[in-house]
Amino acid sequence: MAPLCAIVPQYVLEGIIEKGLAPQPIINRCQSTIEKTKQLQDVREAQGQSIAAVQQQQPSQGIIPPYILESIARNAVTEQQREAARHTLAQRTEHRIAAGRVRHLNRTVYDAQNSRDNPPPRDSILLKEGAKPLSAAEDPTNNANECYIGLGKTYDFYFNFFQQNSFDNKGISLDGFVHAGDLYNAYFDGKQLVFGDGDGVIFNGFTDELDVIGHEFTHGVVQYTSPLPYRYQTGALNESLADAFGTMVKQWGESNPQTADQANWLIGEGIWAAGVNGRALRDMKNPGTAYNDAQVGKDPQPAHWKDFKKLPYSNDQGGVHINSGIPNRAFFLAATMIGGYAWEGAGPIWYRALSSGKLRQDAIFKDFADLTIENAGQHVDKVREAWTLVGYPFSEKRDEL
Ligand SMILES: [Zn+2]
Repeated sequence: MAPLCAIVPQYVLEGIIEKGLAPQPIINRCQSTIEKTKQLQDVREAQGQSIAAVQQQQPSQGIIPPYILESIARNAVTEQQREAARHTLAQRTEHRIAAGRVRHLNRTVYDAQNSRDNPPPRDSILLKEGAKPLSAAEDPTNNANECYIGLGKTYDFYFNFFQQNSFDNKGISLDGFVHAGDLYNAYFDGKQLVFGDGDGVIFNGFTDELDVIGHEFTHGVVQYTSPLPYRYQTGALNESLADAFGTMVKQWGESNPQTADQANWLIGEGIWAAGVNGRALRDMKNPGTAYNDAQVGKDPQPAHWKDFKKLPYSNDQGGVHINSGIPNRAFFLAATMIGGYAWEGAGPIWYRALSSGKLRQDAIFKDFADLTIENAGQHVDKVREAWTLVGYPFSEKRDEL
């Protein structure tokens, strides 16, 4: 079953329930968030299938995967065969770039009116594309304005730096829902982004951090570009890509763009309310140190392959939000070693690996690392070193996973 791409992992909510130190209404909301997430998994699966079906209809995708064409282009016996493969690959790249060049930003922010339905009702529109920001009286929590602005900045980030036209690269409309009922989370369900409310005790809220919106949007980009199944190492790569691009949206989109050295590399900074001992939900620079709190538990992310956690599917889909700490740190290291703005250095390398057409649905860490090294150009030594510092080539567990 394909799960939902939610920013707060289930184990965080389970931790709050198990510790039992938070007020009872908060524990109840953690429970209801887990229940709602489970219900939504069926929806996610259905929409995941429909996305796959749409992709198969696109003539530009072709029946032969690009990695086979690449192999033919290099290894075929005759020059005529090699040239045909190269030509087919070039045509697809041109088609893809042409499709992405027409800017089409179309946002709508809805009030989910505390509904627990998915998708939430669409009868209360708070903001449409081009509208002025809502007043404090109209949007007292500022969630609608934050959602609208965050979607716009995320769209612009992808369009400006990667010529990616919305998450489907065809200008799909961006629908955001705020005030989802009784939900401690933000999630992407394959079509829309849905945000619950904070409580000011454990969670502050989910719309005011650009990296959270960028993270969820990136799950859409991954879904349409190289749909990595959301489980085990493959799912941890999916999660890590969402964090890497989410944090770049934040580094670029906040008041002053930050270089890799200037950035703090925190994911979900500001999610925790003042009473929680934590800086963020995750820390790409120092995985495993984002929070440590009596009510919530401790950040479980490993920072190196030697601490990889082999987990069953029942635990975080095999550790998708946990083992993502390893590729997250590799991205931080590559971005810092290359220097400058991450979206000009390591970002394009990761994007080329993601969109190369060679990232297979059974990809493990080594496969993705190899693709980034292959696409690193002049930065190849730095990218290889970044991965080596987190345990590349990850060899000893390959057969087990
Ligand atoms: Zn995610």
